[in-house]
Amino acid sequence: MKCTICEHRCTITEGGTGICRMYTNTGGVIHEKYPDSYLTVMPVSIETIPLLHFAPRAKLLQVSSVGCTFSCPGCVSGVLIGDIEGMAHALKTIPPPAVVARAKDEGCSGIVFCLNEPAVALPSFIRLAREAKGAGLTTGCSTNGYFTSEALEELVPFLDFVNIGLKGISDNRYLACRAAHAAPVFRNIRTLAEAGVHVEASVMYLKGGEDEVLEVARHLAAISPDIPLQVMRFVPFGDAGLSEEPTILESERLCDALHDILPYVYLFNSPGTRCLDTVCPSCGETIFAREFYGPMGARTLRARNGARCSCGVSVPVIGEISAVGFDEPGMLGGYRPTRALEMAEAIRVCLVSGESPAPPGFWPGIAKEEFIGGLHDRIQTIDGYLGLIEDIGVRCGRSKEAAALHDYISGRIETVRSSVCDNPRPRVYYSMGTPLFALNAGRFEVCLAETAGGEVVNRQIVRKGKPGVNLSVDEFSALNPSIIIISGFLSAPPEDYLCTCSELGLRAEAVSRGAVYALPPGWDFGSPRFVLGLMAIANILHPDRCSFDLDAETALFYRRFYDRDPETARPNRSFCMPGSPASGLQPSDPVGGLKNNEPG
Ligand code: SF4
Repeated sequence: MKCTICEHRCTITEGGTGICRMYTNTGGVIHEKYPDSYLTVMPVSIETIPLLHFAPRAKLLQVSSVGCTFSCPGCVSGVLIGDIEGMAHALKTIPPPAVVARAKDEGCSGIVFCLNEPAVALPSFIRLAREAKGAGLTTGCSTNGYFTSEALEELVPFLDFVNIGLKGISDNRYLACRAAHAAPVFRNIRTLAEAGVHVEASVMYLKGGEDEVLEVARHLAAISPDIPLQVMRFVPFGDAGLSEEPTILESERLCDALHDILPYVYLFNSPGTRCLDTVCPSCGETIFAREFYGPMGARTLRARNGARCSCGVSVPVIGEISAVGFDEPGMLGGYRPTRALEMAEAIRVCLVSGESPAPPGFWPGIAKEEFIGGLHDRIQTIDGYLGLIEDIGVRCGRSKEAAALHDYISGRIETVRSSVCDNPRPRVYYSMGTPLFALNAGRFEVCLAETAGGEVVNRQIVRKGKPGVNLSVDEFSALNPSIIIISGFLSAPPEDYLCTCSELGLRAEAVSRGAVYALPPGWDFGSPRFVLGLMAIANILHPDRCSFDLDAETALFYRRFYDRDPETARPNRSFCMPGSPASGLQPSDPVGGLKNNEPG
């Protein structure tokens, strides 16, 4: 039997499955393996889907399941498609009326299928969307857009909005995701736009892929210049290489070029970027001011009434602009739940020293809303994180290994503490991506820098965001740090960082001394490898007291907890400014080609 839901058009034999492993054939009928079943159901703000030109600041009920029709290197939702059978234990069957009732109870104006591909649960999604529309809710999804024409025809009547995640425009880019062609996706964008569905497109931007993105923009402009284009700066989750990650500066330059083709272009995964704002295409006035709000997410800070510029131009925005936005608690909202699952997996992998699949009860416990919601607070302190290691150890039946990891980390922390305890504390500023994006004072990274003997100036900032806030030039100058650390996640090369400081006229002792350091991914958040980051920061802050051999420590950590050597491939970017040998991190230092969540 042929499945006609997506353009793979899999042949599914009796009892077998297709590429996505989410449909099977019973007695000549193809049906979903897990109908009306969801991994997460939670309220989110619309800008985390992300959608920027549809009902700004709206609160939607986001549903997700597991599985995908694609397999893209570096996928932000990779944890949802790697071990489908294991993850399926965590699915909960919730009939459409119950999902709609939850949306109403939560005060949501719509329902959105997001985080994984809705094509893997199309009959369920259509049943849910029909129920939701009957109850007066808006409906939509985030999708790779690889539907067949006949499947899309069934879905269109139930869609108000859609975000199509483009891989590029060449068949090669689609082949990398194990799909054959780009053409069906652009065909479907046209179908959706002509049917009156609100369409936004996001495109993955990999280093060196500027022409691909420019060509995508030309094709979208030919369909409708009103389609907002979201440039997703590639961040290598999973197994993808660091060398494919463009810098924020490169991405901003690309966005500038894209504005010659499309009026509404936005840059994601780039904390502090100026390219999340909507500016009037005629006079350049800011109509919507936005801030980075986690991976693939944004938050609206200010909006001009009616999305109308003082020069008279109206930005094509559908629906009402809510006066206030919805702030998701903890790790809930947007793509944060997938990060939460990855963090649990990053610990589990250390405890099983390799690839051993999770026991059946593991994911159902981890994927619970209470666990994901509560995780945020637990991972903001070192003691909380050590407690989480023990918890994960119990959940995967590896308490002894968890105790060994706990003891190893505790021992290194004690060594760092005793080395720096009576030394003067330098003023440290911890930022993410660009100079004007400051991490929240309550973040784990801040705790790490304090443990390493720094006085972290982020504590002077009272505003909070996720994971931080934009600063003004004056606020930055007032902090006047003597050392700046750029986080390992959504990072930036120090030379780009200093270049931005110079462009913005930012003044601080750290800037004039060039004392700007970036940590490798996973060394300051979300992985037990934070212990390596702690030692690296101690080297940077107290070169007179600390000279940890980070190469040797990395090799030891990998052999002991991943049962292998660190990768030998070097990351194609520098991790600190030249001339700071005491940090132990040099511009092409062999820190091991580490990825954001490698190897978990
Ligand atoms: S939805 Fe799944 S089974 Fe159906 S054609 Fe696509 S990949 Fe194959």
